[in-house]
Amino acid sequence: MHKGVGVSPGVVVGVAYRVESALGPTEPQHLDDPGLVGAETAFFDRAVEEAASELEGLVQRVAQELGPSAAEIFQTHLQILSDPGLLSRVHSLIEEQNLTALSALQQVMQGYVAQFARIEQEYFRERLNDLRDVILRIGSHLARKKDPARDRSLESREGDEPVVLVAHEILPSQAMSLGELPIAGIVTEVGGTTSHAAILARSRGIPAVSGVEGILSLVRSGDPLVVDGREGLVIVRPDQDETTFYRKVQREFFHLKDSLIANRDEPARSLDGNRMELLANINNIADVHAANTVGATGVGLFRTEYLFLTHHDVPGEEEQFEYYRQIIVNSPNQAVTIRTLDLGGDKTVAYLGRRSEPNPFMGWRSIRIFLENPKLMITQIRAILRAGRHGKVSMLFPMITTLEELKRINKVVRETRENLRREGVPFADDVKTGVMVEVPAAAICIDAILRETDFISIGSNDLIQYLVASDRDNPKVAHLCEPLSPSIFRVLQMVLDACNRTGTPVTLCGEMAGQPRSALVLFGMGLRRFSMSPAFIPAVKNLLGAVTTAQAERFAHHVLQLSTSDEIRSYLTARLREISSTLEVFDAV
Ligand code: PEP
Ligand code: MG
Repeated sequence: MHKGVGVSPGVVVGVAYRVESALGPTEPQHLDDPGLVGAETAFFDRAVEEAASELEGLVQRVAQELGPSAAEIFQTHLQILSDPGLLSRVHSLIEEQNLTALSALQQVMQGYVAQFARIEQEYFRERLNDLRDVILRIGSHLARKKDPARDRSLESREGDEPVVLVAHEILPSQAMSLGELPIAGIVTEVGGTTSHAAILARSRGIPAVSGVEGILSLVRSGDPLVVDGREGLVIVRPDQDETTFYRKVQREFFHLKDSLIANRDEPARSLDGNRMELLANINNIADVHAANTVGATGVGLFRTEYLFLTHHDVPGEEEQFEYYRQIIVNSPNQAVTIRTLDLGGDKTVAYLGRRSEPNPFMGWRSIRIFLENPKLMITQIRAILRAGRHGKVSMLFPMITTLEELKRINKVVRETRENLRREGVPFADDVKTGVMVEVPAAAICIDAILRETDFISIGSNDLIQYLVASDRDNPKVAHLCEPLSPSIFRVLQMVLDACNRTGTPVTLCGEMAGQPRSALVLFGMGLRRFSMSPAFIPAVKNLLGAVTTAQAERFAHHVLQLSTSDEIRSYLTARLREISSTLEVFDAV
């Protein structure tokens, strides 16, 4: 039994499928038959050729879209790619040791890491990042194709046991491509509650555990596996008793989910009839379908960066417009809050120039990148304003820290509207603009922010990590990123009060909106708009329908008097059990 952090609730008994990555662990994988060496080498060479033509295309597009200096990085990558040393090292590992192409690439990468570890200078560290990018790019081309030497692909798998992905880490771009595959559980070695693996798992309603150190060295594809996403447990090769026990829990969880979804067409209201909006957080079109299935009344957060993360270059205005239009027309009530690009931190794209920063979450991310790339910014704002004609659309700016930033972005929106009007391009005049409150500075100065915005959306995932100075993806400090804590609730109360006092619409779109214990308190504090992974909507609707406003207000009032997370957790667990013992399974531990 292995312990990690439970990041998406539920239980699954299935078989493991290892996600290999060019940067993954280096246990060598050999070809099944030495006769395949020629085919494997050709397979690798094709991936390199494709990576090269992709890079050539990027140099041109990025130079055009963002200027020639932004494209320099890809020139460098092209040079690395044509380095005969790199290619011949991979070739000889395939030929002499009969390694698979991916495994040979991993070995070469490890060689570079060891070589560069001895060098202190920043210049060489940057160069290692470039090498990593190039190797990842070749690796992604290898992964996209069917490898003649390895036949155990996910699609061609036999048998109907549910598949559990086991990976070191799931990168944002992988998270998107995995979106379509039949996955029933996810286990990763790194990453916390708000990592991409976690967000993907929750949006699909599948159990997931992150931060399970060393799991890849213990699991082979095809091994039976139990994942308990609430307790954060993984059992590799469970015995008969464990399998029987967890299968029963799995059946009960599915049954509960199915029975809750029956409330999809009922309006969300408290026991005394107070109405609320339960909205969906979405990352792509598959999530829109999930939002419809569970009866969300709109999309409270559309994370547009996932479009950019899966692209190999900057998506143009037309492509963005069409993508947003598709999302809007398919969304519940065509109501969508579109968040502008929130890259940086752990979500990087090579075409904006990957820079290694000592503290990426504190660094060049989100609106900071946006404001420094006028072309990128204006293209997205134009696409959103144009797509706004197809529904009730609002635009949301992430990571606003100062009033100056807000004024700058508002000015860009005004100017973009004027330009569209002058050009005679049709667009929606009524797109409201809002601020994500996710940096403590913005929460503390909420009064000033409210004077310059139409609405607020509280991003509690980031707000928590910045408030407690703990990286949200680092399992070592995961215990500090605790939503049920006195400091978080005090800040939230302050922001909610300011919004309600001024009549400013406010939504909370962090993960705590979908967690039963915190949802109870948030409702009691006056929140009426909750946005969450679609899978949680039925449970939250059921829960809030079982309390009166006065009751929830009492809970909130009491919680604000408590001074530790332990006290808050046990108080709320007791209240939740009184209201509904079954819904506890949807809560984080
Ligand atoms: C948040 O920070 O709470 C949020 C909803 O945004 P993201 O998780 O995408 O940073
Ligand atoms: Mg955020």
